[in-house]
Amino acid sequence: MLWSLVIGRVAGTAIRIHVTFLLFLAWIGFSAFRHGGQAEALQSVLFIVLLFLCVLLHEFGHIFMARHYGIQTPDVTLLPIGGVASLERIPEKPSQELAVAIAGPAVNVVIAIGLILLLGSLTPADITKIDDPGLGLIARLASANIFLVLFNMVPAFPMDGGRVLHAILSMRIGPQRAMQAAARIGQGLAFVLGFLGLFGNPLLIFIAIFVYVAAAAEAQDSVMRDAFVGLSVADAMETRIASVPATATLEQAVDILLATPQHEFPVVDAFGKPVGLLVREDIIMALRTRERDAPVMEFARAPVAGVRAVAPLQKALDDMRASGAAAVSVVGEDGELLGLLTPQNVAEMMMIKQARPDWRFGR
Ligand SMILES: [Zn+2]
Repeated sequence: MLWSLVIGRVAGTAIRIHVTFLLFLAWIGFSAFRHGGQAEALQSVLFIVLLFLCVLLHEFGHIFMARHYGIQTPDVTLLPIGGVASLERIPEKPSQELAVAIAGPAVNVVIAIGLILLLGSLTPADITKIDDPGLGLIARLASANIFLVLFNMVPAFPMDGGRVLHAILSMRIGPQRAMQAAARIGQGLAFVLGFLGLFGNPLLIFIAIFVYVAAAAEAQDSVMRDAFVGLSVADAMETRIASVPATATLEQAVDILLATPQHEFPVVDAFGKPVGLLVREDIIMALRTRERDAPVMEFARAPVAGVRAVAPLQKALDDMRASGAAAVSVVGEDGELLGLLTPQNVAEMMMIKQARPDWRFGR
């Protein structure tokens, strides 16, 4: 995530703090200082730091459970709105999805019970006085952990409760229909929240919009992922493509650009293997600064490793998105150019899938 600093590493997972979190901390300290001086400022900042330590432990609940199922967890980022652990994937088995989702709130349950035992008692009235410094730090932290459990168990994406709901529904009606049902329940809940917000806390309206958008995005993403299951790069690649020989000049590249509807061209060597990629913008840029006979290899993009035609499509798209490449050359067993993978191709395949979900790709 941009604008975040790594402050440490636990069991291979980097802990990042977003700059806005530090600003948030400064703002809390400053407003407490104006209200009650140095002592109150210190106490407020200490409370927020401890609260976010609980949030971090919550995220590590998810992380350690995901690790247990062999899922990689590169990092966790603290934001003013909470923590975000990046998981390489969501487990496909509903029982594992349930375990990973519930491990986070379970940590806060344990912390809350521990703190209440330490205190001796915590009345329901105390729980609502979370922002009252007179209550004492430990009681406030115990209340905050109870809130974290309740808030995270709201059955809507992106809250853990949404995942729990999806996992439980998956066991009965399958993951695909469960995703649609969970998204619909989440969006229905967002409407109720928004409606309540109109009469009470405006913050609820903000949360409602957030939940609504997240539920829709989650459902969309899962539809995409489902559509790609079992498909290889060969199923989605463009095969009738023009390529540019590595020995070509700028003038020849311009001719090829005009002769085809393509925007991206693999540059191939004498053996037909891709050694670079030429994008329309590169050619236009070169026209401004170079001579007609300039060799294309001087302004082509560095050879991105070609993706194998038999590789899973989802993996190739994830890699493509991560590298920011406009297109990727697809190669055969001996590294020879077979086609080109572009976002437009994938979009066309999605249209076909949407019109005819049972359409068989591949050959
Ligand atoms: Zn969580």
